[in-house]
Amino acid sequence: MDTTKNKNWTLESSPAKLEEILPGGVVKCHLSPRNCVIQEGKVGFCKVRGNRGGRLVTLNYGKGVHSTEETIETEAVFHFAPGERILSLGNIGCMLNCGYCHNWKTSQAKYVTDKDVYYYTPEQVVETALKHGIRVISWTYNDPVVWHEFILDTAKLAKEAGLINLYKSAFFISEEAIDELLPVIDIFSISLKSISPEYYRKVTTGWVEPVLAGIKKVYDAGKYVEVSTLMVTDISDDEETARKISQWVLDELGPNVPLHFVRFHPDYKMSNSIRTPVDRLLKARDVARSMGVEHVYLGNVNDVEGTNTSCNNCNALLVTRYGLNAEIIGLDSKGCCSQCGHDAHFKLLGEHQANAPVELREDALAAYEKRKFEWHGDIVSLHAQVLNTEDFEQTVYLRRNYTDGHNSDWKSLTLRPHESYRFIIAKARIDETGPEVWLPNGVNSNLHEVFDRAHFPTESIEEIGISQNDITPTIGYEGKQNMYEQVIKLVSQA
Ligand code: SF4
Repeated sequence: MDTTKNKNWTLESSPAKLEEILPGGVVKCHLSPRNCVIQEGKVGFCKVRGNRGGRLVTLNYGKGVHSTEETIETEAVFHFAPGERILSLGNIGCMLNCGYCHNWKTSQAKYVTDKDVYYYTPEQVVETALKHGIRVISWTYNDPVVWHEFILDTAKLAKEAGLINLYKSAFFISEEAIDELLPVIDIFSISLKSISPEYYRKVTTGWVEPVLAGIKKVYDAGKYVEVSTLMVTDISDDEETARKISQWVLDELGPNVPLHFVRFHPDYKMSNSIRTPVDRLLKARDVARSMGVEHVYLGNVNDVEGTNTSCNNCNALLVTRYGLNAEIIGLDSKGCCSQCGHDAHFKLLGEHQANAPVELREDALAAYEKRKFEWHGDIVSLHAQVLNTEDFEQTVYLRRNYTDGHNSDWKSLTLRPHESYRFIIAKARIDETGPEVWLPNGVNSNLHEVFDRAHFPTESIEEIGISQNDITPTIGYEGKQNMYEQVIKLVSQA
Protein backbone atom coordinates (compact mmCIF):
# COMPACT_ATOMS: atom_id res chain seq x y z
CA MET A 1 0.00 0.00 0.00
CA ASP A 2 1.20 3.48 -0.90
CA THR A 3 0.62 5.69 2.12
CA THR A 4 1.44 8.88 0.25
CA LYS A 5 -1.05 11.46 1.42
CA ASN A 6 -2.73 14.35 -0.28
CA LYS A 7 -2.39 13.29 -3.92
CA ASN A 8 -5.46 14.47 -5.82
CA TRP A 9 -7.35 11.16 -6.06
CA THR A 10 -9.56 12.29 -8.95
CA LEU A 11 -6.76 12.91 -11.46
CA GLU A 12 -5.80 9.41 -12.61
CA SER A 13 -8.30 7.12 -14.34
CA SER A 14 -8.35 3.53 -15.64
CA PRO A 15 -10.42 1.80 -18.32
CA ALA A 16 -13.80 0.64 -17.03
CA LYS A 17 -15.78 -2.48 -17.83
CA LEU A 18 -19.46 -2.64 -18.75
CA GLU A 19 -19.14 0.24 -21.18
CA GLU A 20 -21.43 1.07 -24.08
CA ILE A 21 -20.16 3.63 -26.57
CA LEU A 22 -22.91 5.87 -27.91
CA PRO A 23 -22.80 8.31 -30.83
CA GLY A 24 -21.28 11.74 -30.29
CA GLY A 25 -18.56 10.69 -27.83
CA VAL A 26 -21.11 9.74 -25.17
CA VAL A 27 -20.81 6.58 -23.04
CA LYS A 28 -23.30 4.52 -21.06
CA CYS A 29 -22.33 2.65 -17.88
CA HIS A 30 -23.89 -0.77 -17.28
CA LEU A 31 -22.44 -1.38 -13.80
CA SER A 32 -25.48 -0.38 -11.74
CA PRO A 33 -29.16 -0.20 -12.76
CA ARG A 34 -28.88 3.57 -13.16
CA ASN A 35 -27.20 3.03 -16.56
CA CYS A 36 -25.82 6.57 -16.49
CA VAL A 37 -25.36 8.19 -19.88
CA ILE A 38 -22.24 10.31 -19.51
CA GLN A 39 -21.00 13.17 -21.69
CA GLU A 40 -17.31 13.84 -22.34
CA GLY A 41 -15.54 15.15 -19.22
CA LYS A 42 -18.48 14.35 -16.91
CA VAL A 43 -19.06 11.69 -14.25
CA GLY A 44 -22.00 9.43 -13.41
CA PHE A 45 -24.22 9.52 -10.31
CA CYS A 46 -21.56 7.73 -8.22
CA LYS A 47 -18.94 10.34 -9.25
CA VAL A 48 -16.25 7.67 -9.57
CA ARG A 49 -16.95 6.63 -13.16
CA GLY A 50 -16.76 9.08 -15.99
CA ASN A 51 -16.24 9.79 -19.67
CA ARG A 52 -12.67 10.61 -20.72
CA GLY A 53 -12.11 10.94 -24.45
CA GLY A 54 -15.31 9.12 -25.31
CA ARG A 55 -14.48 6.06 -23.19
CA LEU A 56 -15.86 4.93 -19.83
CA VAL A 57 -13.25 5.14 -17.08
CA THR A 58 -13.06 4.45 -13.37
CA LEU A 59 -11.54 7.13 -11.16
CA ASN A 60 -11.09 4.95 -8.07
CA TYR A 61 -9.17 1.88 -9.33
CA GLY A 62 -6.87 0.85 -6.46
CA LYS A 63 -7.94 3.84 -4.35
CA GLY A 64 -9.66 3.25 -1.06
CA VAL A 65 -9.67 3.82 2.67
CA HIS A 66 -7.13 2.06 4.87
CA SER A 67 -7.49 -1.73 4.83
CA THR A 68 -8.63 -2.97 8.23
CA GLU A 69 -8.43 -6.30 10.03
CA GLU A 70 -11.84 -7.10 11.53
CA THR A 71 -13.91 -10.19 12.30
CA ILE A 72 -16.41 -11.75 9.92
CA GLU A 73 -19.27 -10.76 12.27
CA THR A 74 -18.58 -7.12 11.30
CA GLU A 75 -20.06 -7.99 7.92
CA ALA A 76 -23.31 -9.52 9.22
CA VAL A 77 -22.00 -12.99 8.41
CA PHE A 78 -22.80 -15.32 11.32
CA HIS A 79 -22.87 -18.82 9.82
CA PHE A 80 -19.60 -18.85 7.88
CA ALA A 81 -16.49 -19.44 10.02
CA PRO A 82 -17.63 -17.68 13.23
CA GLY A 83 -14.93 -15.44 14.71
CA GLU A 84 -12.81 -15.54 11.53
CA ARG A 85 -10.43 -12.63 11.04
CA ILE A 86 -11.00 -10.76 7.77
CA LEU A 87 -9.22 -8.00 5.84
CA SER A 88 -11.83 -5.33 5.08
CA LEU A 89 -11.40 -2.98 2.14
CA GLY A 90 -13.60 -0.02 1.35
CA ASN A 91 -13.28 2.45 -1.49
CA ILE A 92 -14.73 5.80 -2.59
CA GLY A 93 -18.16 6.56 -4.03
CA CYS A 94 -21.51 4.77 -4.16
CA MET A 95 -24.29 4.09 -6.63
CA LEU A 96 -26.79 5.02 -3.86
CA ASN A 97 -27.10 7.96 -1.47
CA CYS A 98 -28.96 6.61 1.59
CA GLY A 99 -30.20 9.31 3.95
CA TYR A 100 -28.77 7.57 7.03
CA CYS A 101 -25.45 6.38 5.57
CA HIS A 102 -22.87 6.15 8.37
CA ASN A 103 -20.06 6.02 5.83
CA TRP A 104 -21.19 9.14 3.93
CA LYS A 105 -17.76 10.73 4.16
CA THR A 106 -16.39 8.05 1.85
CA SER A 107 -19.52 6.87 0.01
CA GLN A 108 -20.34 10.36 -1.25
CA ALA A 109 -17.31 11.29 -3.33
CA LYS A 110 -17.66 15.03 -2.86
CA TYR A 111 -16.88 14.65 0.86
CA VAL A 112 -13.77 12.50 0.34
CA THR A 113 -10.55 14.22 1.34
CA ASP A 114 -7.21 13.20 -0.13
CA LYS A 115 -5.81 12.45 3.32
CA ASP A 116 -8.21 9.49 3.64
CA VAL A 117 -7.26 7.88 0.33
CA TYR A 118 -4.71 5.06 0.16
CA TYR A 119 -3.36 3.49 -3.03
CA TYR A 120 -3.23 -0.28 -3.54
CA THR A 121 -2.30 -2.85 -6.12
CA PRO A 122 -4.08 -6.22 -6.18
CA GLU A 123 -0.78 -7.89 -5.23
CA GLN A 124 -0.36 -5.65 -2.14
CA VAL A 125 -3.84 -6.51 -0.85
CA VAL A 126 -3.28 -10.25 -1.19
CA GLU A 127 0.20 -9.99 0.31
CA THR A 128 -1.14 -8.11 3.36
CA ALA A 129 -3.79 -10.78 3.99
CA LEU A 130 -1.31 -13.62 3.63
CA LYS A 131 1.36 -11.95 5.76
CA HIS A 132 -1.10 -11.47 8.63
CA GLY A 133 -2.55 -14.98 8.39
CA ILE A 134 -5.96 -13.73 7.21
CA ARG A 135 -8.08 -16.15 5.13
CA VAL A 136 -10.99 -13.90 4.06
CA ILE A 137 -10.92 -10.60 2.15
CA SER A 138 -14.06 -8.50 2.59
CA TRP A 139 -15.14 -5.91 0.02
CA THR A 140 -17.21 -3.56 2.14
CA TYR A 141 -18.01 -0.17 3.79
CA ASN A 142 -19.12 2.53 1.27
CA ASP A 143 -20.07 -0.16 -1.24
CA PRO A 144 -18.02 -2.53 -3.38
CA VAL A 145 -20.21 -2.21 -6.49
CA VAL A 146 -18.38 0.94 -7.65
CA TRP A 147 -14.95 -0.71 -7.20
CA HIS A 148 -15.80 -3.38 -9.75
CA GLU A 149 -12.60 -3.61 -11.81
CA PHE A 150 -10.24 -3.50 -8.84
CA ILE A 151 -12.27 -6.13 -7.00
CA LEU A 152 -12.34 -8.46 -9.99
CA ASP A 153 -8.55 -8.22 -10.41
CA THR A 154 -7.78 -8.62 -6.72
CA ALA A 155 -10.38 -11.26 -5.90
CA LYS A 156 -9.03 -13.43 -8.74
CA LEU A 157 -5.50 -13.20 -7.34
CA ALA A 158 -6.80 -13.81 -3.83
CA LYS A 159 -8.67 -16.91 -4.95
CA GLU A 160 -5.55 -18.25 -6.66
CA ALA A 161 -3.73 -17.75 -3.34
CA GLY A 162 -6.38 -19.83 -1.52
CA LEU A 163 -8.23 -16.88 0.06
CA ILE A 164 -12.00 -16.41 0.31
CA ASN A 165 -13.78 -13.31 -0.99
CA LEU A 166 -16.71 -11.75 0.85
CA TYR A 167 -18.91 -9.10 -0.78
CA LYS A 168 -20.88 -6.87 1.65
CA SER A 169 -23.15 -4.63 -0.34
CA ALA A 170 -26.46 -2.86 -0.81
CA PHE A 171 -26.35 -4.72 -4.14
CA PHE A 172 -27.87 -2.11 -6.40
CA ILE A 173 -26.02 -3.71 -9.30
CA SER A 174 -26.69 -4.87 -12.84
CA GLU A 175 -27.08 -8.51 -13.86
CA GLU A 176 -24.05 -8.25 -16.17
CA ALA A 177 -21.88 -7.10 -13.27
CA ILE A 178 -23.11 -9.97 -11.07
CA ASP A 179 -22.16 -12.42 -13.83
CA GLU A 180 -18.60 -11.10 -13.61
CA LEU A 181 -18.52 -11.41 -9.81
CA LEU A 182 -19.82 -14.95 -9.56
CA PRO A 183 -16.55 -16.72 -10.51
CA VAL A 184 -14.56 -14.93 -7.79
CA ILE A 185 -16.88 -14.08 -4.87
CA ASP A 186 -17.68 -16.80 -2.32
CA ILE A 187 -19.87 -15.01 0.25
CA PHE A 188 -22.53 -12.36 -0.34
CA SER A 189 -23.80 -10.39 2.68
CA ILE A 190 -26.54 -8.18 1.32
CA SER A 191 -28.17 -5.21 2.96
CA LEU A 192 -31.83 -5.30 1.90
CA LYS A 193 -33.03 -1.97 3.26
CA SER A 194 -36.74 -2.61 2.88
CA ILE A 195 -39.16 -4.37 0.59
CA SER A 196 -41.02 -1.15 -0.13
CA PRO A 197 -40.45 0.51 -3.56
CA GLU A 198 -41.40 3.92 -2.12
CA TYR A 199 -38.89 3.57 0.72
CA TYR A 200 -36.09 2.66 -1.69
CA ARG A 201 -36.78 5.61 -3.97
CA LYS A 202 -36.97 8.11 -1.15
CA VAL A 203 -34.36 6.92 1.34
CA THR A 204 -31.74 5.28 -0.87
CA THR A 205 -32.37 7.01 -4.24
CA GLY A 206 -32.30 3.55 -5.84
CA TRP A 207 -35.03 1.02 -6.52
CA VAL A 208 -35.73 -2.29 -4.86
CA GLU A 209 -36.44 -4.60 -7.81
CA PRO A 210 -32.84 -5.11 -9.02
CA VAL A 211 -31.69 -5.63 -5.43
CA LEU A 212 -34.18 -8.46 -4.91
CA ALA A 213 -33.34 -9.97 -8.30
CA GLY A 214 -29.63 -9.77 -7.54
CA ILE A 215 -29.91 -11.53 -4.17
CA LYS A 216 -31.92 -14.31 -5.77
CA LYS A 217 -29.44 -14.60 -8.62
CA VAL A 218 -26.40 -15.15 -6.37
CA TYR A 219 -28.37 -17.51 -4.13
CA ASP A 220 -29.55 -19.56 -7.10
CA ALA A 221 -25.95 -19.66 -8.33
CA GLY A 222 -25.10 -21.58 -5.14
CA LYS A 223 -23.26 -18.79 -3.36
CA TYR A 224 -23.24 -18.44 0.43
CA VAL A 225 -25.76 -15.66 1.31
CA GLU A 226 -26.86 -13.78 4.44
CA VAL A 227 -29.36 -10.89 4.43
CA SER A 228 -29.56 -7.93 6.79
CA THR A 229 -32.09 -5.13 7.19
CA LEU A 230 -31.52 -1.83 8.97
CA MET A 231 -34.53 -1.14 11.17
CA VAL A 232 -34.85 2.65 11.09
CA THR A 233 -36.71 4.08 14.07
CA ASP A 234 -40.40 4.70 13.33
CA ILE A 235 -39.81 4.10 9.61
CA SER A 236 -38.86 0.46 9.07
CA ASP A 237 -38.73 -1.01 12.59
CA ASP A 238 -42.32 -2.27 12.61
CA GLU A 239 -43.67 -5.83 12.58
CA GLU A 240 -45.05 -5.41 9.07
CA THR A 241 -41.56 -4.73 7.64
CA ALA A 242 -40.18 -7.75 9.51
CA ARG A 243 -43.04 -9.89 8.17
CA LYS A 244 -42.58 -8.79 4.55
CA ILE A 245 -38.81 -9.25 4.59
CA SER A 246 -39.16 -12.66 6.23
CA GLN A 247 -41.78 -13.76 3.71
CA TRP A 248 -39.54 -12.75 0.84
CA VAL A 249 -36.58 -14.65 2.30
CA LEU A 250 -38.76 -17.73 2.81
CA ASP A 251 -40.34 -17.56 -0.66
CA GLU A 252 -37.28 -16.68 -2.74
CA LEU A 253 -34.28 -18.02 -0.80
CA GLY A 254 -34.93 -20.49 1.98
CA PRO A 255 -35.50 -20.86 5.72
CA ASN A 256 -31.79 -21.56 6.35
CA VAL A 257 -30.54 -18.21 5.07
CA PRO A 258 -29.53 -16.15 8.14
CA LEU A 259 -31.49 -12.92 8.53
CA HIS A 260 -30.25 -9.95 10.59
CA PHE A 261 -32.32 -7.08 11.98
CA VAL A 262 -29.87 -4.26 12.53
CA ARG A 263 -30.14 -1.36 14.95
CA PHE A 264 -30.02 2.11 13.36
CA HIS A 265 -28.11 5.10 14.69
CA PRO A 266 -28.91 8.68 13.63
CA ASP A 267 -26.46 9.95 11.03
CA TYR A 268 -25.94 12.02 7.84
CA LYS A 269 -29.27 13.48 6.61
CA MET A 270 -31.22 11.62 9.30
CA SER A 271 -29.42 12.75 12.43
CA ASN A 272 -32.56 14.15 14.08
CA SER A 273 -33.79 10.80 15.35
CA ILE A 274 -33.02 8.18 18.01
CA ARG A 275 -31.54 4.68 17.93
CA THR A 276 -33.97 1.87 17.22
CA PRO A 277 -35.61 0.75 20.49
CA VAL A 278 -34.27 -2.75 21.23
CA ASP A 279 -37.74 -4.13 22.03
CA ARG A 280 -38.77 -3.49 18.39
CA LEU A 281 -35.78 -5.47 17.16
CA LEU A 282 -36.67 -8.30 19.49
CA LYS A 283 -40.24 -8.22 18.21
CA ALA A 284 -39.00 -8.35 14.59
CA ARG A 285 -36.93 -11.40 15.49
CA ASP A 286 -39.95 -13.10 17.07
CA VAL A 287 -42.00 -12.41 13.94
CA ALA A 288 -39.36 -13.87 11.61
CA ARG A 289 -38.82 -16.95 13.76
CA SER A 290 -42.54 -17.61 14.13
CA MET A 291 -42.83 -17.52 10.33
CA GLY A 292 -40.14 -20.17 9.94
CA VAL A 293 -36.87 -18.30 9.34
CA GLU A 294 -34.44 -20.57 11.19
CA HIS A 295 -31.56 -18.22 11.99
CA VAL A 296 -32.52 -14.67 12.98
CA TYR A 297 -30.11 -12.27 14.65
CA LEU A 298 -29.94 -8.73 15.94
CA GLY A 299 -27.15 -6.39 14.88
CA ASN A 300 -25.53 -3.46 16.71
CA VAL A 301 -26.76 -4.66 20.10
CA ASN A 302 -24.85 -6.17 22.97
CA ASP A 303 -26.03 -7.80 26.15
CA VAL A 304 -29.40 -9.01 24.85
CA GLU A 305 -30.78 -12.30 23.63
CA GLY A 306 -30.57 -12.49 19.86
CA THR A 307 -26.90 -12.73 18.97
CA ASN A 308 -26.03 -16.29 20.04
CA THR A 309 -26.90 -19.44 18.08
CA SER A 310 -28.66 -22.33 19.77
CA CYS A 311 -29.55 -25.65 18.20
CA ASN A 312 -33.05 -25.53 16.73
CA ASN A 313 -33.51 -29.19 17.71
CA CYS A 314 -32.06 -29.70 21.22
CA ASN A 315 -31.49 -26.06 22.23
CA ALA A 316 -27.78 -26.59 23.02
CA LEU A 317 -25.68 -23.44 22.74
CA LEU A 318 -23.62 -23.65 19.53
CA VAL A 319 -21.97 -20.25 19.05
CA THR A 320 -21.74 -17.38 21.51
CA ARG A 321 -21.29 -13.83 20.28
CA TYR A 322 -20.59 -10.56 21.99
CA GLY A 323 -20.45 -7.49 19.81
CA LEU A 324 -18.20 -8.39 16.90
CA ASN A 325 -16.62 -11.40 18.61
CA ALA A 326 -17.73 -15.00 18.33
CA GLU A 327 -16.77 -18.32 19.88
CA ILE A 328 -17.71 -21.76 18.60
CA ILE A 329 -18.65 -23.92 21.56
CA GLY A 330 -21.04 -26.61 20.30
CA LEU A 331 -20.42 -27.38 16.61
CA ASP A 332 -18.80 -30.41 15.05
CA SER A 333 -16.45 -30.10 12.07
CA LYS A 334 -19.39 -30.33 9.64
CA GLY A 335 -21.18 -27.36 11.23
CA CYS A 336 -23.76 -29.53 13.00
CA CYS A 337 -24.77 -29.50 16.66
CA SER A 338 -22.16 -31.54 18.51
CA GLN A 339 -24.78 -32.66 21.03
CA CYS A 340 -27.57 -34.01 18.76
CA GLY A 341 -26.09 -33.85 15.23
CA HIS A 342 -28.80 -31.49 13.91
CA ASP A 343 -27.65 -29.46 10.88
CA ALA A 344 -27.14 -25.89 12.08
CA HIS A 345 -26.18 -24.67 8.58
CA PHE A 346 -22.66 -23.50 9.35
CA LYS A 347 -19.71 -23.48 6.98
CA LEU A 348 -16.42 -23.82 8.86
CA LEU A 349 -12.85 -23.27 7.72
CA GLY A 350 -11.12 -25.34 10.37
CA GLU A 351 -8.81 -24.42 13.20
CA HIS A 352 -6.70 -21.32 12.77
CA GLN A 353 -3.68 -20.57 14.90
CA ALA A 354 -2.87 -17.01 13.78
CA ASN A 355 -3.10 -14.28 16.38
CA ALA A 356 -2.94 -16.75 19.26
CA PRO A 357 -2.28 -15.46 22.82
CA VAL A 358 1.37 -14.76 23.65
CA GLU A 359 3.29 -15.19 26.92
CA LEU A 360 4.56 -11.83 28.10
CA ARG A 361 5.52 -10.11 31.34
CA GLU A 362 4.57 -6.45 31.65
CA ASP A 363 8.13 -5.51 32.69
CA ALA A 364 9.29 -6.66 29.24
CA LEU A 365 7.44 -3.64 27.89
CA ALA A 366 9.26 -1.05 29.99
CA ALA A 367 10.37 0.91 26.91
CA TYR A 368 6.93 0.75 25.28
CA GLU A 369 4.28 3.48 25.18
CA LYS A 370 0.93 2.35 26.62
CA ARG A 371 -2.30 3.64 25.05
CA LYS A 372 -5.45 2.89 26.98
CA PHE A 373 -9.03 3.44 25.85
CA GLU A 374 -12.24 3.05 27.86
CA TRP A 375 -15.49 1.86 26.32
CA HIS A 376 -18.26 4.38 26.90
CA GLY A 377 -21.93 4.49 25.92
CA ASP A 378 -22.38 3.01 22.48
CA ILE A 379 -18.67 3.17 21.72
CA VAL A 380 -17.70 -0.47 22.11
CA SER A 381 -15.28 -0.85 19.24
CA LEU A 382 -12.26 0.99 17.98
CA HIS A 383 -10.03 1.02 14.91
CA ALA A 384 -6.35 1.24 15.87
CA GLN A 385 -4.05 2.35 13.04
CA VAL A 386 -0.33 1.80 13.62
CA LEU A 387 2.64 2.80 11.46
CA ASN A 388 6.10 1.31 11.82
CA THR A 389 8.50 4.12 10.85
CA GLU A 390 11.60 1.92 11.25
CA ASP A 391 13.60 -0.13 8.72
CA PHE A 392 13.10 -3.30 10.76
CA GLU A 393 10.16 -5.40 11.99
CA GLN A 394 8.45 -4.25 15.20
CA THR A 395 5.84 -5.86 17.43
CA VAL A 396 2.78 -4.19 19.00
CA TYR A 397 1.02 -5.82 21.99
CA LEU A 398 -2.60 -5.65 23.03
CA ARG A 399 -4.71 -6.77 25.97
CA ARG A 400 -8.11 -6.02 27.48
CA ASN A 401 -8.94 -4.72 30.98
CA TYR A 402 -11.80 -6.04 33.14
CA THR A 403 -13.84 -4.43 35.93
CA ASP A 404 -12.27 -6.66 38.60
CA GLY A 405 -8.76 -5.36 37.77
CA HIS A 406 -7.69 -8.45 35.84
CA ASN A 407 -6.55 -8.41 32.20
CA SER A 408 -6.94 -10.71 29.21
CA ASP A 409 -4.06 -12.66 27.66
CA TRP A 410 -1.69 -10.65 25.48
CA LYS A 411 -2.07 -10.64 21.70
CA SER A 412 0.68 -9.45 19.37
CA LEU A 413 0.90 -7.86 15.94
CA THR A 414 4.13 -7.84 13.96
CA LEU A 415 4.63 -4.97 11.52
CA ARG A 416 6.92 -5.09 8.52
CA PRO A 417 9.40 -2.21 8.04
CA HIS A 418 7.36 0.94 7.26
CA GLU A 419 4.08 -0.99 7.31
CA SER A 420 0.86 0.83 8.14
CA TYR A 421 -1.80 -1.52 9.57
CA ARG A 422 -5.29 -0.93 10.90
CA PHE A 423 -7.26 -3.34 13.07
CA ILE A 424 -10.48 -3.40 15.05
CA ILE A 425 -10.73 -4.00 18.77
CA ALA A 426 -14.32 -4.75 19.81
CA LYS A 427 -15.59 -5.21 23.35
CA ALA A 428 -15.74 -8.94 23.91
CA ARG A 429 -17.37 -9.34 27.37
CA ILE A 430 -19.84 -7.46 29.47
CA ASP A 431 -17.25 -6.78 32.20
CA GLU A 432 -14.58 -5.49 29.81
CA THR A 433 -13.71 -1.83 30.43
CA GLY A 434 -11.46 -1.25 27.42
CA PRO A 435 -8.24 -2.18 25.62
CA GLU A 436 -4.57 -1.29 26.09
CA VAL A 437 -2.28 -1.05 23.06
CA TRP A 438 1.48 -1.08 23.77
CA LEU A 439 3.76 0.47 21.15
CA PRO A 440 7.55 0.29 20.74
CA ASN A 441 9.62 3.37 19.84
CA GLY A 442 9.16 4.20 16.17
CA VAL A 443 5.56 2.96 15.93
CA ASN A 444 2.99 5.75 15.64
CA SER A 445 -0.69 5.20 16.35
CA ASN A 446 -4.14 6.70 15.81
CA LEU A 447 -7.33 5.46 17.43
CA HIS A 448 -10.74 5.85 15.77
CA GLU A 449 -14.06 5.38 17.57
CA VAL A 450 -16.38 3.03 15.65
CA PHE A 451 -20.08 3.81 16.02
CA ASP A 452 -21.61 0.63 14.65
CA ARG A 453 -20.94 -2.48 12.59
CA ALA A 454 -19.17 -1.79 9.24
CA HIS A 455 -18.66 1.88 10.10
CA PHE A 456 -15.37 3.25 8.80
CA PRO A 457 -14.44 6.32 10.86
CA THR A 458 -12.24 8.80 9.01
CA GLU A 459 -11.41 11.03 11.99
CA SER A 460 -9.19 9.80 14.82
CA ILE A 461 -9.51 10.80 18.47
CA GLU A 462 -6.15 12.54 18.09
CA GLU A 463 -7.86 14.88 15.58
CA ILE A 464 -11.32 15.34 17.11
CA GLY A 465 -11.03 14.05 20.68
CA ILE A 466 -13.07 11.37 22.42
CA SER A 467 -16.74 11.54 21.58
CA GLN A 468 -18.89 13.30 24.15
CA ASN A 469 -22.08 12.19 22.45
CA ASP A 470 -22.22 8.42 22.37
CA ILE A 471 -24.57 8.09 19.43
CA THR A 472 -24.12 10.67 16.67
CA PRO A 473 -20.62 11.13 15.17
CA THR A 474 -18.88 14.24 16.43
CA ILE A 475 -18.36 15.82 13.03
CA GLY A 476 -21.79 15.69 11.49
CA TYR A 477 -23.36 16.45 8.16
CA GLU A 478 -24.02 20.18 7.81
CA GLY A 479 -26.77 20.02 5.19
CA LYS A 480 -30.53 19.98 5.73
CA GLN A 481 -32.14 17.64 8.26
CA ASN A 482 -35.60 17.33 6.74
CA MET A 483 -35.45 13.84 5.29
CA TYR A 484 -36.59 12.04 8.42
CA GLU A 485 -39.90 13.96 8.55
CA GLN A 486 -40.45 13.42 4.82
CA VAL A 487 -39.97 9.67 5.10
CA ILE A 488 -42.19 9.41 8.19
CA LYS A 489 -44.91 11.19 6.20
CA LEU A 490 -44.40 8.88 3.25
CA VAL A 491 -44.57 5.77 5.44
CA SER A 492 -47.70 6.97 7.23
CA GLN A 493 -49.43 7.55 3.87
CA ALA A 494 -48.48 4.12 2.48
S1 SF4 B 1 -21.88 2.66 -11.45
FE1 SF4 B 1 -24.06 3.25 -11.56
S2 SF4 B 1 -24.06 5.33 -10.75
FE2 SF4 B 1 -21.92 4.91 -11.33
S3 SF4 B 1 -21.73 5.63 -13.44
FE3 SF4 B 1 -22.24 3.44 -13.54
S4 SF4 B 1 -24.47 3.41 -13.76
FE4 SF4 B 1 -23.92 5.46 -13.00
